[in-house]
Amino acid sequence: MSSVDLDRVRELEARTRILHPGLASRRDLLALVDDHVQRWLERLSDDLPGYGPDGQTAVDALQDAPITEHPRPPEEVLEIVGRGVDHVGVNESSGSFFGYIPGSGLYFGALADYHAAVVNRYAGVYYAAPGAVRLARTCIEWLAEVLGYPADCGGDITSGGSIANLSALVTARDACGLRSEEFAESVIYLSSQTHHAVDKAIRIAGLGDAQRRLVPLDGRYRMRADALARLVDEDRRAGLRPFLVVASAGATDTGAVDPLDAIADVCEQRSLWFHVDAAYGGAFALTVDGASRLRGIARSDSVVVDPHKGFFLPFGTGVVLVRDRMHMARAFAGSAAYLEDAMDSEPDVVASPAELSPELTRPFRALRWWLSLQLAGVDAFRAALDEKLLLARYAHDRIGALDGFEVGPEPDLSVFTFRHVANGDPDAVNRALVDAIHTDGRIYVSATVLDDRYTPRFAVLNCRTHLAEVDRAVDVIAELAARVNGSLHDR
Ligand SMILES: *Cc1c(COP(=O)(O)O)cnc(C)c1O
Repeated sequence: MSSVDLDRVRELEARTRILHPGLASRRDLLALVDDHVQRWLERLSDDLPGYGPDGQTAVDALQDAPITEHPRPPEEVLEIVGRGVDHVGVNESSGSFFGYIPGSGLYFGALADYHAAVVNRYAGVYYAAPGAVRLARTCIEWLAEVLGYPADCGGDITSGGSIANLSALVTARDACGLRSEEFAESVIYLSSQTHHAVDKAIRIAGLGDAQRRLVPLDGRYRMRADALARLVDEDRRAGLRPFLVVASAGATDTGAVDPLDAIADVCEQRSLWFHVDAAYGGAFALTVDGASRLRGIARSDSVVVDPHKGFFLPFGTGVVLVRDRMHMARAFAGSAAYLEDAMDSEPDVVASPAELSPELTRPFRALRWWLSLQLAGVDAFRAALDEKLLLARYAHDRIGALDGFEVGPEPDLSVFTFRHVANGDPDAVNRALVDAIHTDGRIYVSATVLDDRYTPRFAVLNCRTHLAEVDRAVDVIAELAARVNGSLHDR
């Protein structure tokens, strides 16, 4: 006996049917989407540019497809996305993309995302999704081994390096027992090459009032460990409270790797939390050359790596590792009871991600990584990273040998800077060159400001970048530099 109008319920039910299409419709939809992305991927290898500069009209046209009460045909929807999204802006999936830190959008990762979204496991809580949480932990333990971290370290797969850095800084803040009234006299050491995400994380962590020291750099943009030690000692003598050092393992602008081993010495001797931002560079630990560059990373208290950079995964994949996972649990566990039960008395239990991160509900990000490692095998990743190291040195040599070009230091990893030297204001000349590259669109490079000078840079990290793409990129840069010189001359 209910007063609910069941005819109304049945009528509502009929209107929801489209939300769970039947098998035949699902297969049709999937085939349409598959056809769309396969055509895009096929073009990616030959004629999709590193940058689609003329897309504003297509972006504006997205407004012509308002969200309404009624379904739109899938072909039409895909066509709208194809025009307004897929070909507009920088194309990080292209092997001709050398800007910022290139992404890749590894295909295995996309398949994993499809699978993970359909099955929709509740990946934040062990009880709810033990298999999903176990796979995430397997990825974390695999990375721990690659970096030389203890197998029982704390770890979390985040949406990216920014959130991973935030988690590490919050953990460091709490582990050092800093209370809010002590924030203003606490000191954090970083450098002018530290990623701005760290500065942002410091502020979000409530440490905006903490003192920040920019440690002087050597001639290759690396933090000087001797200068760090001197600054820390001076600050201690002045009654301040040094507590955290943030080193970069692959600075975004210059690719420089700070001397991690020497910095670890300073931190150990002075009981400071040693955090390494290896969002860009961390994956190179998989290679022999990279591992030797990153020596000392295993001695840090926390480290951040972005698998959506060096492991080529789709965007939305970062990792933070914390040597002592109890520090992480103390910072993030939802309840003290959990800490006592799960963390202390059962040290082998696979912790729920929700207890080691600010998130509760989360997507099953780990599947991207785990499936990719399984389907491709680790050797392919190691080879790709070794290849990037060599290609960057090769590009550095080739651009350095071009007429009218100078290059920054030999790359520590796979990023270096270069400048075009021609008649006229050097900043204007290099801006004109980068503008010409963007307008041309065949390749993409970005620039930074280094020592107050506008400085183009070259970053090799896309999994589709090989020798042919690098050779073509250098040829395009030479060709456009000649054209820029011509037009500067004409004025
Ligand atoms: C990319 C990067 C970040 C920021 O990471 P997101 O994944 O973009 O949030 C932080 N630090 C370094 C060194 C980076 O390269």
